[in-house]
Amino acid sequence: MSVTTERESELLASVPTGLLIGGQWRPAAAGGTFDVEDPSTGKTLLTIADAGPEDGAAALDAAAAAQESWARTAPRERGEILRRAFELVTERADDFALLMTLEMGKPLTEARGEVTYGAEFLRWFSEEAVRAFGRYSVSPDGKSRLLVNKKPVGPCLLITPWNFPLAMATRKIAPAVAAGCTMVLKPANLTPLTSSLFAAVMQEAGLPDGVLNVVHTRDAGGVTGPLIKDERLRKLSFTGSTPVGRSLLEAAAGNVLRTSMELGGNAPFVVFEDADLDAAVTGAMLAKLRNMGEACTAANRFIVHESVAEEFGRKFAAKMADMPTGRGTEDETKVGPLIDGKSRDKVHDLVSDALGNGATAVIGGAPVDGPGYFYQPTVLTGVAAGSRILKEEIFGPVAPIVTFSTEDEAVRLANDTEYGLVAYVFTKDLNRGLRMGERLETGMLGLNAGVVSNAAAPFGGVKQSGLGREGGLEGIEEYLYTQYIGIADPYTDSPVG
Ligand code: NAP
Repeated sequence: MSVTTERESELLASVPTGLLIGGQWRPAAAGGTFDVEDPSTGKTLLTIADAGPEDGAAALDAAAAAQESWARTAPRERGEILRRAFELVTERADDFALLMTLEMGKPLTEARGEVTYGAEFLRWFSEEAVRAFGRYSVSPDGKSRLLVNKKPVGPCLLITPWNFPLAMATRKIAPAVAAGCTMVLKPANLTPLTSSLFAAVMQEAGLPDGVLNVVHTRDAGGVTGPLIKDERLRKLSFTGSTPVGRSLLEAAAGNVLRTSMELGGNAPFVVFEDADLDAAVTGAMLAKLRNMGEACTAANRFIVHESVAEEFGRKFAAKMADMPTGRGTEDETKVGPLIDGKSRDKVHDLVSDALGNGATAVIGGAPVDGPGYFYQPTVLTGVAAGSRILKEEIFGPVAPIVTFSTEDEAVRLANDTEYGLVAYVFTKDLNRGLRMGERLETGMLGLNAGVVSNAAAPFGGVKQSGLGREGGLEGIEEYLYTQYIGIADPYTDSPVG
């Protein structure tokens, strides 16, 4: 065990280690378990149940059994459960933050930020639960009435990644609860503990048995594959990488399953010559180093006007150099470890490829020696077009800088990717900012802002970054379907043809 303090061991002892099925925490049917490790030490934090296909099936049985009565539960009651969950998560913010830091590695300050962000989905959708309005209208020919109603889609499979263990779960669970859907949650096997603690909080908040079921497993495909083929499942909501999303979309086609896909990103961060450079550097630090760069919204390519590139690069590198790496629980830590050795090796491969193609590492450029999976904050200049680092999601604290000379060139470079999640633009010219919004092929744009995530805003991408939106007014729609009821003219007795 890498538990270093009594507080950490007490917290870990409070996390359920079983699978949550039909309101009961239970071991895997086949008795399997797996270890969850601390990426800052590589040592085991806790050993938990490893679900097999039979556990997945039992979880869907429980979700399907609970669906009808949950859909009939008053919207206000569903909203109040979410509101209580918001209050419980907020009260236990320190526990959630520490647990995420332990299993995922992010510094405690960032983990606290994620608790606030993640809890906000509970509050937002507690308010949206009572506003899933339909409409009643007179048909254009006046001969019938049109009643349009919103209904829960039914049992959902929610698959979440490891990088935001709380927020990626609440961003799906909260709207599903608000809409009246039951769920099977399959968290990432690298960070299942936060989901389990959160599911226990949902129980405490009064969520009925069977509405939320949690199956963590090392066999993601083996457990979720049969569920996707099961006709009782009505919706798949996935957050993760584009290749896995693509294969899940193919599988979902079998039953024409409703899907929401929050996939990878390759965000351009564009700095124009008229930008406030200090603000751009502050934005760049947020957009790059949040979560050690392990965010779908992370700035992946810095596209900077040639006249300010040297100054921007110098100021940015100075800030990046002042970011100590370390275990996220330590006060001085600003950058935690990457999630595992494989991820760290991938980051280093991308850096090595860029260096091999003529780039210069202004700072960093190498893994950090010692236990854990740390990588030096890195700034690369002179990155050649065609380098892999400009095409692939880096998912690490590495910032490649390229330059441009005209707005058209900036747009071309920014759009030169199959991804389209988010872009960042720094300029003092509002017209230019708005023009960039129109010309960039992304679902979101940060205008003079390094962070866009907000529970009240529709989060999501275009192109191969995904389908659908989470949060905002749009978020609940992903869990509702529209039913139309045609009603005969109330002024005559004859039904209309
Ligand atoms: P990942 O490898 O695609 O895994 C995501 C989830 O899918 C995990 O729960 C994983 O389970 C599961 N999974 C993997 N293979 C599966 C399969 N064949 N069938 C069913 N489930 C499967 O992605 P990740 O490495 O965890 O997360 C990083 C990626 O997520 C990045 O690309 C990032 O951009 C993206 N992301 C996107 C958003 C967004 O909102 N657009 C937000 C956060 C992250 P295991 O853990 O057991 O492998």
